Amino acid sequence: MQKRMTSEEFISHFDEAIKSGHIYSYFQPQFNHSTGRMTGAEALMRWVDPEFGMQFPSDFIPVLEDEDLLYLADIQMMEMTCRLLRYCIDNHYPLVPISVNMSRNDIYKHEYVDEVEKIRVKYDIPVRYIRVELTETSAIGGMELVSSVIKKFHNYGYIVEMDDFGSGYSSLNILKDLDVDVLKLDMKFLSGNIGGRGGIIIRSIVQMAKWLQLPIIVEGVETIEQADFMKSIGCNYIQGYLYSKPLPQDEFLEKMKQTDHEPLNASLFLIDTFDAEKFWDPRSIETLIFSNFVGGAAIFSYKAGRLNVIRVNKKYVQEIGMNLSEKDFIDSDPWKCFDENNKEIYLSTLEKVITSMGEEQCDTWRTFNSKCCGEDRICIRTNMQIIGKSEDEYLIYAMIRNITAEKKYCNQISENERRFRYASEHAGLYAWEYTISTKEMRPCFRCMRDLGLPALVENYPEPVIASGIFPSDYADMYRDWHRQLAEGVEHLEAVIPLTTARIPFTVKYTTEFDENGRPLKAYGSATPV
Ligand code: C2E
Ligand code: CA
Ligand code: CA
Repeated sequence: MQKRMTSEEFISHFDEAIKSGHIYSYFQPQFNHSTGRMTGAEALMRWVDPEFGMQFPSDFIPVLEDEDLLYLADIQMMEMTCRLLRYCIDNHYPLVPISVNMSRNDIYKHEYVDEVEKIRVKYDIPVRYIRVELTETSAIGGMELVSSVIKKFHNYGYIVEMDDFGSGYSSLNILKDLDVDVLKLDMKFLSGNIGGRGGIIIRSIVQMAKWLQLPIIVEGVETIEQADFMKSIGCNYIQGYLYSKPLPQDEFLEKMKQTDHEPLNASLFLIDTFDAEKFWDPRSIETLIFSNFVGGAAIFSYKAGRLNVIRVNKKYVQEIGMNLSEKDFIDSDPWKCFDENNKEIYLSTLEKVITSMGEEQCDTWRTFNSKCCGEDRICIRTNMQIIGKSEDEYLIYAMIRNITAEKKYCNQISENERRFRYASEHAGLYAWEYTISTKEMRPCFRCMRDLGLPALVENYPEPVIASGIFPSDYADMYRDWHRQLAEGVEHLEAVIPLTTARIPFTVKYTTEFDENGRPLKAYGSATPV
């Protein structure tokens, strides 16, 4: 028989319920969705009244809280949890850490932490097997108070979990100010919509938790899709009906015996001594530096072809121009502006940096769109470095430079060079540049291609004489030309049989002078007669 009790009935039945064990604990196991192993459990309060049957926390907890009775029930839950753990230890069962819930009111009871500790010591449970959950709303009473409670738990060695993270208004500030060890997110705060806004919110929360190197447990996971989504963004720890409902003690013991266990881990390991905490603090010097003193920089995560921009600085936005905002870059799919070819270049650089764990660079063209500037194609030089890594996800720091103007200039030059090539090909022209003071000769591409010359010939003309391009009977004449050039002759011209095949060419020199009239360079050419 089950019937909902009224507030008055809860209050009047409470003493009896505590004494006679009508209030007791169910246990809901937590799993690593990647490995299927159990990582912990949460103790959840149940009240089975002999007359009214099973009662649910959502009905009686607010009443007990208002009547300031919840404290007693919470202490009872701690006692039951320790008793179960003691039973496991005595019977050599494999055991997992169990979380107990702490209510808002417990924060105000300054003996609460010591009470919890007393019970743990009484049952002689290693402190790593008890975790304490507190909710964001506990902080309503003041950050200092909650901070001091967390500190007290930490001093005893307890792991402290932030329950229902993301449900409050100021989650981000809380995370910055409260020194918790684990975050618990509830699927129900995602508006049931992991593909849309909820997905974006949770993704950014997860990113932030990773930066703080906090493990995340996701609660209320009912479907495989939800679990897979969470796994895809790096949250493997799951508590929910998909794996198991809250279980009565006996069933929980069975499950614990049958399943392999593993400990919780933060999903991300930052490389070196990169101080992520400071990095996220808008007031920190690191943020100041990131925002103002480095060039264009972005932080993104990369996992199996998927990029996710986490942060870009002001200079990044300025480098791209186009009147886009930091948010525009974070919200949009980064691949959107790449064509297939450039995506390939970028991806292979990413793979390279992952292999080398060093620094890699690439130039890619991207097409940006903005409301005010329309569409523009921009060339970006990216310098990448890995700053963090999880199993298969990487955090990457990318410095960028807009090199569109340089690229266009280079393209222009190579275009000019290409035109010159065509022209010289048609005219049958061989050309070179001779620097008088250094005796260096720089041949055109045709000289290089047809005569096998390097891009720079030193001690000119000796090498071409030695190779037979200039026949030996003309060698002294040609050496004399170069003496004349050094003395300032403006123009030289003669027909010379070139190469070992002695093909007649008209060879010419024209000299260039500096502002004082000293000869600088001579431009040589050879055209077939
Ligand atoms: P909570 O701490 O966030 O606990 C998780 C709640 O989600 C539990 O509800 C659990 O049964 C439920 N849940 C777990 N998996 C799923 C799922 O896949 N789908 C859905 N829809 N729900 C799921 P429960 O046991 O009814 O507890 C409700 C709340 O009552 C708890 O929320 C907690 O705030 C409070 N509570 C429970 N036990 C205690 C306790 O011992 N002490 C204190 N102070 N509060 C407790
Ligand atoms: Ca909880
Ligand atoms: Ca919760």
